[in-house]
This record gives sequence, C-alpha cells and structure tokens, in this order.
Amino acid sequence: MNENHNVLLIDDDPTQIAILTAYLSSLRISKITSASDGQKALDLLASSVHETDVIFTDLRMPNMDGYVFLKHLGDLGFKGQIIIISGHEHVLLESAASLGKMYGLNIAGQIRKPLTKQALDRLLATRKEDTNHNGPRSSDVMSSEAILNGIANDEFIPFYQPKVDLLSGKIVGAEALARWQHPELGLISPAAFIPIAEADGSIQAISIKIFDHLVNDLAQGGAAWKDKKIAFNLPPQMIRDETLPETLISRLNKAGVSSKNICIEITENGFIDFDHITVEVLSRLRIMGFDLSIDDFGTGAASIANLKMFPYTELKIDQSFIGNVLTDAFSAETVRTSISLARQLGLRIVAEGIETHDVLQYVKSRGIDQAQGYLFAKPMPVADVNELFANPMGWMSNPTYARQSNAA
Ligand code: C2E
Ligand code: MG
Ligand code: MG
Repeated sequence: MNENHNVLLIDDDPTQIAILTAYLSSLRISKITSASDGQKALDLLASSVHETDVIFTDLRMPNMDGYVFLKHLGDLGFKGQIIIISGHEHVLLESAASLGKMYGLNIAGQIRKPLTKQALDRLLATRKEDTNHNGPRSSDVMSSEAILNGIANDEFIPFYQPKVDLLSGKIVGAEALARWQHPELGLISPAAFIPIAEADGSIQAISIKIFDHLVNDLAQGGAAWKDKKIAFNLPPQMIRDETLPETLISRLNKAGVSSKNICIEITENGFIDFDHITVEVLSRLRIMGFDLSIDDFGTGAASIANLKMFPYTELKIDQSFIGNVLTDAFSAETVRTSISLARQLGLRIVAEGIETHDVLQYVKSRGIDQAQGYLFAKPMPVADVNELFANPMGWMSNPTYARQSNAA
C-alpha cells in the first residue's frame, strides 16, 4: 500500500473507522473514504470501482453484511486488495476469506478487532516507511504526551453498557467503559490507548476521570439511577494504593452519591501480585459499601486459596469463554468450573459478551445471574443510557432486545 492509494473503509463502528483513519494518515495515505455498511459502500463504488485500490471491510454490519458485500464486489469484478476486519473468531475470518477468493477477489489479509497499531503494522509491514516522513504518525496520535493532553482537556469520558438480570429481564446497572473523545479523531476505543496508558501510568488518571464522570452521572441521573449499580474498572496498579478507599469515598461524599451504587471491577490478572496491602485495600473498599467484581475471570491464574482471601461480591466470566461456549469444549468447561467456584464462594455471576440468543439461553439454563453483551446493547453515551434507565419498558418490548447504539 502506498500514499497514492485510494482506500475505502467499511465499518458500522465509527471508533474503528477513526483508528484506521489515524493509522492510514500516519502512513501519509490521504485518499480515504468510509461507509457504514455494504450497501453504502456499493453506492460509493458505483462511480469509483476502478479507482479504488484497497478496501478494509467489517463482516457484521446492518443493512448489508460483509459476506453479501464480498459477493457484490465479485460481481463488479473489483481488482483491488481487500482486507477483512472483524470481531468474530478466527474461523469466521477464514471462511470469509475463502468465500472472497471463490468470488475471484484479491483477499490481501484478515485482521481481528480490536484494531491496534501493532496488529496493523504486522499486517501491512510498513513500519520502515513510517519513519521516513515528517507528517503526523499514529505513534504521535497515541503517544503518552497526547494522552496527558487528553486528560488535561477532560477528553476521557465513560460510555455505559447495560447489565441485565436474567431472572427478571430488568436492567440492573451498567458498566462504565472509557472512551477518548478526541477533538480531531472522534471517539477512540480503549484498545488503542489503554496499553500505552498502562505502560506509562496515566491509566490511573484516566480511571479517576472516568470515576468522577460516573459519580456525576449518578448524582445528576435522579430516580432512574437510584437503584442501579454502575461498574467501574480499576487498574491493577491502584489496588496497592493505600489511599484509594479515601480518594474514592471523598469524591462520592462531595457529590452526595452512595457507594452502594458502585461496583469496582478488577481484572483477574490484577490479583496475581496480591499481598497484605491488596487484601487491606479491597477489604476497606468492601466495608465502605462498594461491590467488588473479579473481571475477565478465566484469563488469569488466581488460585482458589487466593480467591478466598478477597471479599468479592461478583465474578465476571470472560467474554472469550462465553462467546465460544457452544462450540468449544475447553470454553464450556471453563464456564462450568467458574460457575461452580462462584457458587462455592457465594458470588453473583455475570456473563460478559453475550452476542446471540443461543448463548443467552445457555447461560440462563446454567443459572447465571446477570448478563452483558451486544445482544442487549453496545456501550452508549450517557444521554442514551439515561433514556434507557428512564424508559426500560420501551427497550424491553423490543423483540430483538437490541437497542444497539452504533457509537461504540
Ligand atoms: P472489560 O472491563 O472486560 O469490558 C468489556 C469489554 O467487552 C468492553 O470493551 C465491551 O465493550 C466489550 N463487550 C461487551 N459486550 C460484548 C460483546 O457482546 N461482544 C464483544 N465482542 N465485546 C463486548 P471496551 O469498552 O473496548 O473495553 C475493553 C477493556 O478496556 C475493558 O474490558 C477494560 O479492561 C478496559 N477499560 C475500559 N474502560 C476502562 C477504564 O475506565 N479504566 C480501566 N482501568 N480500564 C478500562
Ligand atoms: Mg470490566
Ligand atoms: Mg471483562
């Protein structure tokens, strides 16, 4: 790929478009167009099919998905390169690529979401070219300095993804997930900035910003938020900060918000370095009224003995196991043992990453308490979640359950 190439990006998620655009701009590629589904892309291509050199396409999109789009591209005799991007598992990417080849298309590569600079570099093997230019590079956009600027300008905000109680079907809360509202690039997903922020420590400041926003949203939200639990992702470094309980409580007190409305999620990997400080900090948070959730369960190496030392209230089974539970024996076994462990420890169980009705039926049949996933709703801005909390019946009466915000 070179800087004279015309590139078309097709994805219904504006965040992915923003990341790809930032990345391609760093390679001095400026002729970039985008479309939010296959049909819109075909409309664009009607006048430019022979001028387009490279297409990045998602597979799952509204109106016309990637599979149908590839067939139309084959019919058009498109000769450029195609790169398939998707959040689906590897086998689906492979089958889409095989299908594309059967249509006579030039499938140049496949890449799994979340998109990262490293994965794109690997795919395009263009790092050397990158250093020969003077213009903005993706590394400039995603640098520690840019992140610190973003923190200073209050550009990190939470999006909220609803959590649903599986017995009653009611929305019982939401998880606050960081997004970077970049003034030029638009919305940037955590996959693009968290690895840098974790490495340079700015993740702590970002997380406090997210906490302040969610406390403010709880304070402003009124009655509809009173009975909700909002989950907050605590970076592992902060569990060893003895001043953390006071820091969080004083912010809550100032806003007049109860700790009962907040669940603190800590990734299972964060528990590996446990010691007496960690136990003390978490116990004090628990005594102060916060719920404590162990996130991404199954991906770390926490032993039962370790788990028993911490006063959790919830165990969240990682989405990689939930997503594959019907097709992969190892995932099914991990889900089964996680449920049994959580029951022994008396924890609420949450399944994360529910995308299909079949998986929903499965987790319901296993007695899992709560669920979160694209089947119910994608993470959405505070204005949307406000509306959802205030009018849950409108959402529940939707037969597909799907109130999917395309914003994240
Ligand atoms: P997490 O805490 O495990 O959050 C769940 C992630 O799974 C979110 O991605 C969410 O959008 C995504 N997800 C939920 N349902 C589905 C589904 O059905 N299918 C698929 N494919 N994905 C689903 P997101 O928002 O990109 O966040 C990624 C991770 O970034 C989070 O994982 C969390 O570890 C971290 N993160 C996000 N916000 C913050 C924050 O404020 N502070 C800290 N320290 N970490 C954060
Ligand atoms: Mg989480
Ligand atoms: Mg998780």
